[in-house]
Order: sequence, then structure tokens, then C-alpha cells
Amino acid sequence: MFLSITTTGTPERPATDLGYLLHKHPGKAQAFSTSYGRAHVLYPEARPERCTAALLLEVDAVALVRKGKSKGGRGGAPDAALAQYVNDRPYAASSLLAVALSGVFSSAMRGVCNARPERAAQPLPLRVEVPALPARGGPGLVRQLFEPLGWTVTVEPVALDAQFPEWGDSRYVRLELESGALTLAQALRHLYVLLPVLDDAKHYWVSEDEVDKLLRAGEGWLSEHPEQKLITSRYLSRRWSLTRQAMERLELVRLAEADDSEVEEIDNAVEAETEEEAKPTPLAVQRRDAIITALQASGAARVLDLGCGQGQLVQALLKDPRFTEIVGVDVSVRALTIASRRLKLDRMGERQASRVKLVQGSLAYTDKRLKGYDAAVLSEVIEHLDLPRLPALEYAVFGAARPRTVLVTTPNVEYNVRWESLPAGHVRHGDHRFEWTREEFRAWAAAVAERHGYEVEFVPVGPDDPEVGPPTQMAVFTVRKEKEAKAA
Ligand code: SAH
Repeated sequence: MFLSITTTGTPERPATDLGYLLHKHPGKAQAFSTSYGRAHVLYPEARPERCTAALLLEVDAVALVRKGKSKGGRGGAPDAALAQYVNDRPYAASSLLAVALSGVFSSAMRGVCNARPERAAQPLPLRVEVPALPARGGPGLVRQLFEPLGWTVTVEPVALDAQFPEWGDSRYVRLELESGALTLAQALRHLYVLLPVLDDAKHYWVSEDEVDKLLRAGEGWLSEHPEQKLITSRYLSRRWSLTRQAMERLELVRLAEADDSEVEEIDNAVEAETEEEAKPTPLAVQRRDAIITALQASGAARVLDLGCGQGQLVQALLKDPRFTEIVGVDVSVRALTIASRRLKLDRMGERQASRVKLVQGSLAYTDKRLKGYDAAVLSEVIEHLDLPRLPALEYAVFGAARPRTVLVTTPNVEYNVRWESLPAGHVRHGDHRFEWTREEFRAWAAAVAERHGYEVEFVPVGPDDPEVGPPTQMAVFTVRKEKEAKAA
């Protein structure tokens, strides 16, 4: 199995920087052991003008068979299919190569390059060659998959047997991709997902974490790809429950990303407006302060920030050593990327870094990673969900994760008449699915508390207007058992 990546350069921006970007020195051939055999990285050409890195995977057929067998039962690859792997895997690029790619070039795939950060972030001239790619769906599908991503595609069918052209084509193609518009990380992520999609025969049992892997690698391109459904379904070996889950999450990513760019704007707009009045503290800051005060009062040390957005609250919590573990969760990879930059996660000392974690996930699904925390914050998040999805979030947070304390903030729609720039009857943000009156919020919160065994209290955030109440309303939920125990 073989794949090569070529770039060209100039004396100022030498092509050999590819070695830094891939974290593999162009001067040495290197070998790595992977679960399916040895992966070699070598540079057939390494000059300032042109540099090619090649990844070669020597498949260990015995390991492959053992892996298939040892999983057994439902998890085992069927033997008939295995026979085929053992036959064609040694030279065909496929899902195995994708696994090797992510193992050997994991930092490059994430776009991490401390030596040349500016080059990792920029598009570069790239040419990818895969001499033997199993492509179910043929050259037409190969084009449909790569062209929308900005690649110029050359794809040639490989004859079944060169001596007997009348036998027709094999299921292999020779693939050549060229682009000057992509970063190396983007290119690697395209390959990581699309090689197995074209192969369409995953060798290992597809489990739920494959959905996470797909969404991570698909960041920034999959949610907009016209063949998104085919890609998702094939990548997940046509397991439809996983496919549906992935499609739903992609939909959320799309919404959240459309939304994301507006979040800061509206906060700034709200801030600008308040500033005009009497230069008081911006509402977003008042909200954060109110949340932190409530968290401190609850005695929480391990805190979840659910729908953490761009990480402002996580950053504020880190400043208080009482909070020993802070986990930010968001469905939007883009928001998390911005959060990670804001927190300078990659430059943080080990001690500090051990206190904070950012994870991608949807609050509409129960998630065992969220269990066992002291407190959870949902700051300006619930109004971003369609009302029919709210019970799913309610269950995931209050039913499954069950932290001792839950803080929920949301706009008070009654206050909207006080925002001068907000046309009557409008919500504060294009993506708000609803905004509640104080009564509506209280009714919802009381019912949630009742259903899940919590007590709830309400705290105004911002100026508490005698007629219309405060701009932000906050509910503080505390597990009932806890309260009783304290009282006793
Ligand atoms: N908590 C932050 C951000 C609020 S904006 C603050 O108070 O400033 C709402 C955030 O919720 C966005 O970042 C959006 O991506 C996230 N979000 C929306 N629906 C979500 C879902 N189903 N699961 C997880 N996060 C979600």
C-alpha cells in the first residue's frame, strides 16, 4: 500500500518544510509499527524546489487474520471478506492505509506544527498520488468525492490484466490529486476519510467512537459536502443507527457554525448598547460573574461547561484554584478550536493543562464522559435547541450526567423591549429557537426539577427591571437528596 504527497517550494519557502509539517525528517527513512503491519515514511525526493514524502504500509497478513479472529462474534470480520483482504491488502491503498496515516501523521492531521506554525496554517501546492486505490463506484465517484473539496482529480482505471484488455477494468484506480488551495492537515483529513469510503469494506468492527473520528476528521468540510450522506454511511460501514447519529450531529455542527460567527457579534452589540447607557459591566461579564458566584457557593470543584462556545467561562474558571477540573463541551468543532486558542492549551504548563479539557459532543445525547461532576453550567444554550429536542438535553443532563448542581441561564424575553436596537417581537439572536418569559422559564425549570429530583431557585442577572425583570434569568438546580442531607 502506497501513497505519496508532493509539494513544491521556493528558496524562501522551501518544499522540504514538508518534513516539519509531517513531523518526519526528510533525511531519514523511518518505520513505525501499526496494528496492521509496518508503516514506512521515506522521501524519494527532498529538494527546496520539490519534496515528496511517501507512506508505505507493509501489511502483516497474519496480524490481520488474527485481529479479525480475536474479535470474534459480532465484532469479528467475516472470514469470506477476510480472504479478500489478505489477497489484495498488501498493495492496495485502503482503510488500512487510512489507519496508518492517522497513526503516523496524527499531529499533521490536526494541523499542529510548532516548528513552522505559519506554514501549517497556509494552503500549499500539493500533489497526492495513490497508484492502486480500490474504488467501489469507479472513477466517477472518485471525482464526486474529491472535486467539491477543491482538488483537481486525475483518475485512471487499472485494467484487470494489462495483457488482456478485453477482460475489462479491475476495481482499482490510479489516483492523482492536485490542489493549491488546501492546507496539509485538510488534505490528510480528506484522505483519512475518503480512502476507506472508496474502499467501502472496513476490516474492523465499526463502533460508536468511529462517529467521533469521522466528525473530527470531517471538521470544516464534511458538513457541507454534497455527498455527505454516502460518505457518512460508507465510512460507518452502513450501520444506519450510527449513520443517522452522525448525520444529526453534522446538522448541529452546521447550525452551530452558522451561529458561532454571530455569537460574538451579538454579545458585542449587547455590550455596546449597555455601554451607551452608563458604561456598566457588559451583560456577558455579569452573567459569567453570577455563574462563578453560584458555583463557588455550591462548593463545586469539578465543573462541566456545557455548550462552552469559545471558552470564555472556562478561561474565567481556570483563574480560581477552587475549580480543580473544568470540562468544556460543545458540538461545534470550530467553537472548540477558538476556545483552545483562547486558552492557549498547547502552551499551558502541565499542572494547569491537567485541570482543563475541551470535548466535542452533542448535549442531545447521553454521554458517559459527563458523569460524576459536581456541577454543570448551561449558559445561554437551551434556547439554541429546537423545543422538541429539549427533553433529550434535559435527560442527558439531569437524568444521566446528574451533577449535584446545574446552572441554566437563558434570555428573559420580557426584557427585549428595553433593548433599543431590537425591533419589537424579535429575538436577540438569529439562532435562538425560542426566548421565554420569566413565567415560562420557571414553569419549565420547576417541571425539570420535579421530574429529576432537584430543587430549583431563580437568580436575576443584570439590572432587575421592576416591570419586565432582568435581561438574563438563571435557574440554580440542586439535587434534592443533597439538600435533605445538609439539613439533617
Ligand atoms: N455558553 C457560552 C456559549 C453560548 S452560545 C456562553 O454563555 O457564552 C451556544 C453554544 O451552544 C454554541 O457554542 C453552540 O455550539 C452550543 N450548542 C448548541 N447546541 C448544542 C448541542 N446540541 N450540544 C452541544 N452544544 C450545543
